[in-house]
Amino acid sequence: MNFLDAKSAPPREDRLHASIAFGGKCAQVRTCERALANGCTNLSARSFSMAQGCQFTLSLAILNTLRNAVVIMHGPIGCGICSTGNIGTNKSFKQIRDPSAEGLIWLSTNLDESDVINGGEKKLQEAVIFADREFRPDTIIVCNSCVPALIGDDIDSIIQELQQECAAIIMPVHCEGFKTKLMATAYDAVYHGILKKYIRRPDLKIPIWESDVDKFRETYKRSRNVNILNVGSMSRADEVELCRLLEALGLNVTFIPCYAEPEDFQYALETSLNVSICGTHDDYFVGHLEEKYNIPFVVDTIPIGRKNTDRWIRKIAAHFDLQTQADRLIEAENVVLSEALEPFRKVLSGKRAYLAGGEVRILATAEILQDLGMEVVGFKAHHYDKFAEPIFDALENIDEVQFSVATNQPFEMSNIINRLKPDLLITHTGGNNIAARHGLPLLPLFGPTYNYCGYSGVFEVARRLNKIMRNFEFNRQISLNSPLPFKKEWYEKDPFAYIKYDK
Ligand code: SF4
Repeated sequence: MNFLDAKSAPPREDRLHASIAFGGKCAQVRTCERALANGCTNLSARSFSMAQGCQFTLSLAILNTLRNAVVIMHGPIGCGICSTGNIGTNKSFKQIRDPSAEGLIWLSTNLDESDVINGGEKKLQEAVIFADREFRPDTIIVCNSCVPALIGDDIDSIIQELQQECAAIIMPVHCEGFKTKLMATAYDAVYHGILKKYIRRPDLKIPIWESDVDKFRETYKRSRNVNILNVGSMSRADEVELCRLLEALGLNVTFIPCYAEPEDFQYALETSLNVSICGTHDDYFVGHLEEKYNIPFVVDTIPIGRKNTDRWIRKIAAHFDLQTQADRLIEAENVVLSEALEPFRKVLSGKRAYLAGGEVRILATAEILQDLGMEVVGFKAHHYDKFAEPIFDALENIDEVQFSVATNQPFEMSNIINRLKPDLLITHTGGNNIAARHGLPLLPLFGPTYNYCGYSGVFEVARRLNKIMRNFEFNRQISLNSPLPFKKEWYEKDPFAYIKYDK
């Protein structure tokens, strides 16, 4: 893998052969030849499609978290307006790391019809100069939307010229929405910018001979430093839990990229191992760091659910030859957790659940449900690629469970919920409008202030499920007063009627 000579990251349709449209069973999506690379669902589509996000907006999920940064959205004012939705949590989460941190600062170049004719370069130049003079940030991030890409604004050249005049590091992120139907390409777009602009060998504070640089690298390779690649859907409580577990093994933990400062990336190379929380999020970044700087990585499961957490810890421990210590830690944690879960099993056992969201996250969360004696009746994944595979290993009797692939597409999900009639929904935060109108108890798949990761995350999910199963009157009232927006004829149709597998 080396795409860094290119202006931008390739779409995931090409790089990972990922799919965004599928309807069937878990066994089929895992094994059938349609599922991946050869003769695959890779280019499957819909003859009718409803509400889908774009990689520009998902890029902001990481970019908006960076501290000491100004984000310039180069495009019409509507692109990225979703950022207003997380201004509050964004500021407080930054201040958890650094009490003096500013909240989110973002500007839009506000391109209009005349800019489409005359070009938007002048507006971008003015915005960058304004950001540098007004806010004095460490970095200015320029993310471009569809319009400048279509009209051919030469963003890289502008940034190169402006860099001479600005104190801030200016980072371009090419994340125009039309380039891909796979929103998760956003992660590659962001990491592409980070790899090119922020990652560099650290400025050494002590003099070092050129011939000693390799020895210096070796020191870090043998160290116990670990980079954990956090994701925008993690809370600080998740980070505290993962830090607790790895520090118990004697490791030193650093979290990047979310809520990091640009300077933190300079030290990203002073590590022995890069550890992914979620392959869908990180493989582009850690793959390049291995190829370019020879730093090994772990991309395997996500530490959500006890079996997944056990496996994640063991993978990391193996790199440091700490297997015995890891086994002892895992055993002790599991004893405490089993006892703590017992009261919740009485309420939750036998309940039927449906999960929707990112492939890695829904499958891992299903492990918690099975642990509690619940039945998983269906999944809807935003997309499907090879990173789901290790997470399936933690699930039991899953082959016949329904699995669909759809980025949003609430009409399909509503039809499926109506057929499967689960007792409980666990769905992606931000997409729960339609789900809630079914009147069922609903747990958000992630929440910016809740703990989902590690052993404490299993307990916390169980505790919250127990609470919402006892009282979901709010959603029941929504279903009574705000009916579903689809005609009854739709519910008589096959939910996958609009999926086309032919290329
Ligand atoms: S698809 Fe293009 S125009 Fe629409 S929000 Fe995304 S970047 Fe903007």
